[in-house]
Amino acid sequence: MAQSARSDHPTDPHPAGQPQQDRPRRLALSPSRASDFKQCPLLYRFRAVDRLPETPTRAQTRGTLVHSVLERLFELPAERRDRDTAAELLAPAWRELTAEQPELADLFSGEPELDDWLKSTGELLEAYFELEDPQRIEPEACEQRVETELDSGLVLRGFIDRVDVAPTGEVRLVDYKTGSAPRQLNEAKALFQMKFYALALWRSRGELPSRLLLMYLADRQSLAYTPDEAELNRFERTLEAIWQAILRAGRSGDFRPSPSRLCGFCDFKPVCPAHGGTAPPYPGWPEAPESPGLSSATDG
Ligand code: SF4
Repeated sequence: MAQSARSDHPTDPHPAGQPQQDRPRRLALSPSRASDFKQCPLLYRFRAVDRLPETPTRAQTRGTLVHSVLERLFELPAERRDRDTAAELLAPAWRELTAEQPELADLFSGEPELDDWLKSTGELLEAYFELEDPQRIEPEACEQRVETELDSGLVLRGFIDRVDVAPTGEVRLVDYKTGSAPRQLNEAKALFQMKFYALALWRSRGELPSRLLLMYLADRQSLAYTPDEAELNRFERTLEAIWQAILRAGRSGDFRPSPSRLCGFCDFKPVCPAHGGTAPPYPGWPEAPESPGLSSATDG
């Protein structure tokens, strides 16, 4: 997602438009951290509680850059949203990204490698235009931050790439993916994320999104999904169960590793006991003493 415009970190405590000093920091669940906990509780701990640094990858950086360009594209008048303009936006978006995160430049050994990578990123933007015509779309919002509190007190928080509202009022949520269309595990993960956003939007606005659209730019495919109330109600209970499990682990410090083939992509393998490492001492669950549960120094 467009990191230049938002923080997707689960511990980002301040909803947009609300002065920081006016509100307590609240524990909240984001789709990425919920997925982390489902995959491996210790991965969740390292990311959300310890907040251990991770090395950025080219794939993540490409995703951030493409999201940033598409966000800029939709800020322009409709008639200017074409392929050439998107290509022109790439270099300034990269400069801005590296100004914020200079370490990203270290992902490349030199100009030729960077140029090749930018060219292949431009091809993803080309692919976007094969999936839809942005001149025919007037989004209600791009990089929309959503935060809502469920009846149980669980706070959901996240960013939706794009919210489209039809003249007839139907709401569509759009998410851009810069990887290939998912297979099995990835598809489940992508739908989990979209259901999370659908539920958050439904609960915050009272409108059930009529459609969830995932756009896989790498292989020029879209995946559409129509949520229904019964399913999202069930999903809400699933999230609450995950959150209760997170709170139990957080208070006891018992975040167990759950090794899988995904460990190969985990930056924390060297400090993971499941792989012979030693985890740093548990820093403790960040709960505010006056409000055990949902007011705290750190989001979940
Ligand atoms: S290496 Fe595997 S088991 Fe260890 S923290 Fe990472 S995902 Fe979990």
